[in-house]
Amino acid sequence: MPDETGTPADTTIAQRRLIGLARELGPAFAERAPRYDREASFPFENYDDLRRSGLLGLCVPEAHGGLGADFATYCLVSAEIGRWCGSTALTFNMHACSTLWTGRLADDLDMTEAERAEHERHRSVHFRRIVSDGAIYAQPFSEGSAAAAGRAPFGTTAVKADGGWRITGKKIFASLSGAAHYYGVLCTEAKAEPSLRDTLYLAVPAGTPGLGIVGDWDPLGMRATVSRTLVFDDVFVPDGAQLMPRGIYFQAASRWPHMFLTLSPTYMGIARAAYDFTVSYLRGEVAGMPPIKRRMYPTKQLAVADMRIKLEQTEALFLRAIRDARVDPSRDERMRAYAAQFTIMENANELCRLAIRTCGGQSMLKDLPLERLYRDSRCGALMLPWTAELCLDRLGREILYKPGEVDD
Ligand SMILES: Cc1cc2nc3c(=O)[nH]c(=O)nc-3n(C[C@H](O)[C@H](O)[C@H](O)COP(=O)(O)OP(=O)(O)OC[C@H]3O[C@@H](n4cnc5c(N)ncnc54)[C@H](O)[C@@H]3O)c2cc1C
Repeated sequence: MPDETGTPADTTIAQRRLIGLARELGPAFAERAPRYDREASFPFENYDDLRRSGLLGLCVPEAHGGLGADFATYCLVSAEIGRWCGSTALTFNMHACSTLWTGRLADDLDMTEAERAEHERHRSVHFRRIVSDGAIYAQPFSEGSAAAAGRAPFGTTAVKADGGWRITGKKIFASLSGAAHYYGVLCTEAKAEPSLRDTLYLAVPAGTPGLGIVGDWDPLGMRATVSRTLVFDDVFVPDGAQLMPRGIYFQAASRWPHMFLTLSPTYMGIARAAYDFTVSYLRGEVAGMPPIKRRMYPTKQLAVADMRIKLEQTEALFLRAIRDARVDPSRDERMRAYAAQFTIMENANELCRLAIRTCGGQSMLKDLPLERLYRDSRCGALMLPWTAELCLDRLGREILYKPGEVDD
């Protein structure tokens, strides 16, 4: 059972220490969140704090000077950050997963000796930039086509050039645009027949000639992610920019499906924050508010009981799914991951909805966090490749069809 702050009782000492680091930073994140949300500006101060605490290197292997967090530990720390500031947690996901995927996940994949040596050489440069220089990595994959859903090759292409690659294309919803030092771009190696198998994962340094950041950013929620559009106009990057060897991203996406579950901890944190706020509000304990108690009404008690049950159901599935995560999971584990993603994303919004209904009119004013949590929570179900809809699609199909099965 999670404790009063949502930390599961069976977390290891190492996990508790890392969750504790995030928890120490949390109150300052929460204090700054309304301003970043209002301005739709990037939480640079939060990233300075993350850098100082060492958390930018959370998933960088210890051998490379990082904190060496595994998949489950990453998810627990991310959920803790999400309790305090959704946009910081969501953008931190893009950064930390750039290192989790190239680190622990890549270690599980099949590579030739030469590929493994090349990967080690390249990733040590990326890891050093983060651990020594405090660099931030983004993950702009989405293009507004079927590519980010994993159903078509990326339209952004990379052409082999002398000593590197030349990239051309466009990425929409690039969280950390203008804040990241490197943009980890998924693109397709240009060939006569474009194929998902030829997906390349390349880190483009901010400021590289030909890289532009365009368009406005004035969204409903997750406003501090500053997810603008990136344009690549014949952008050159050297061979060392590869975050994975050629062809390995395709293997990762096929064999390590939980890599796409890493956005959900942000929303698990938001769900927990909405519940915590509701309890404090009904007890008359919200800082800066008159200490009026509303807990004596049976309808309020029923509502928080309902919220607690939804939260427990969601957290239970979250904890189960993050412990399932591994290379080549069973069919059952894969389906549970879809179910977990769907449940967390939808229930986070449902809990925020219940929180506003239960706390009432004053609770939706902008000087309190609930309305921001509500807006942020609505964005969870939209995140490709595992949107709520696509989780249902995949789940339904994979329940009824075993691999390779077709109808006559
Ligand atoms: C706050 C925020 C931050 C984001 N940050 C990033 C980021 O850093 N990097 C990044 O790469 N992306 C990011 N995204 C983008 C996100 O992952 C999606 O790619 C984006 O929301 C898709 O928008 P769209 O209108 O192009 O969706 P569409 O592709 O038009 O899809 C609309 C809906 O249709 C369904 N759908 C899509 N494709 C299929 C299909 N092939 N079959 C069946 N159904 C389908 C899905 O349920 C989807 O929700 C972010 C999004 C938000 C809201």
